[in-house]
Parts: sequence; C-alpha cells; structure tokens
Amino acid sequence: MSKGLNGTDKRGIRELGAEKKVGWDEVPQGVVLHSFDTEIENASFLKPEEREYSDFNSYTASVASWRVIKPVYNRDICIDCQNCWVWCPDTSIISRDKQMLGIDYDHCKGCGVCVEVCPTNPKSLLMFTEAVENDEALAGWPEKKKKEKK
Ligand code: SF4
Ligand code: SF4
Repeated sequence: MSKGLNGTDKRGIRELGAEKKVGWDEVPQGVVLHSFDTEIENASFLKPEEREYSDFNSYTASVASWRVIKPVYNRDICIDCQNCWVWCPDTSIISRDKQMLGIDYDHCKGCGVCVEVCPTNPKSLLMFTEAVENDEALAGWPEKKKKEKK
C-alpha cells in the first residue's frame, strides 16, 4: 500500500495535489488519475500485491467498511469455474492459476454478486452477517438440494 494511506478510514477520499483533499464528486472534469506510480507493462500478469498502485487506484481506496454481510467460501464444493472471479465488481475474489483461493475481505463490499453467479449445488459461496465466524458458517453449510419430481 503506497504512502501509508488507509482507504478504509478515508472512504474513498484521496489527495489531489499536496494540500487539498477532495471527494470523488469534486474531482475536476478531464483530470487524469494514474492507476500506478510507475510505468507498468502486463499488469494483469502481476499479482495485485506486486503492483505499484497509486493513491488514486481503487486498490488503495477500499470500500470494505461498507460491508454488513460477507461472502463465505467453501472449498469442498467449489469447482473452480471462475464465475465469481469474472463477476465480482471489486476484484475481491482471489484466484491463482485458475484456482479459487478465497475472498479479499480488505476490498469486498458485500454485494453478493459472487453468490448469485456460483453454479454449484449447494453454492460454494454464501452470504452471512459479519458477526458470524467463517468456521461457524462452514459448519452449518446447507446440504445438496434434490431435484423435485414432476
Ligand atoms: S460480495 Fe461482491 S464484492 Fe464481495 S467478493 Fe462477492 S462479488 Fe466481490
Ligand atoms: S463461482 Fe462458485 S464454483 Fe465457481 S469458482 Fe466461484 S466459488 Fe467456485
């Protein structure tokens, strides 16, 4: 994380210039916000933690503090289809070499899109309130639903 900014505390407010802090709706039209502090090639081949993010990049401006419910991931059921990774609007699904590893809770805002698009039965991702421990959620995971006879 660059320059010690803690996005969770600032709720998306970034420094523009040295003196003035502005909100997202005060940014002048036409301003260019660079995603990275240095020239970068093939960023998609680098792991997020290896990229030189600028203060304006959403990687440093977390919205995780908005979350009241969270997705919990169940490795035992997941088929690594990558649907959740493709659809997550905050790039908060951690996947390496097409294997789903879990949730980036520093950036997940708890929208539930990943749960909606998970195709397994039961789902490999389910939403729980923040107060529920992940182990507790996994212990009470629902059984496979049987097809109804017509
Ligand atoms: S709840 Fe939303 S932000 Fe969080 S991992 Fe799922 S899709 Fe991404
Ligand atoms: S959508 Fe569900 S099954 Fe597919 S990778 Fe994500 S958690 Fe696994």
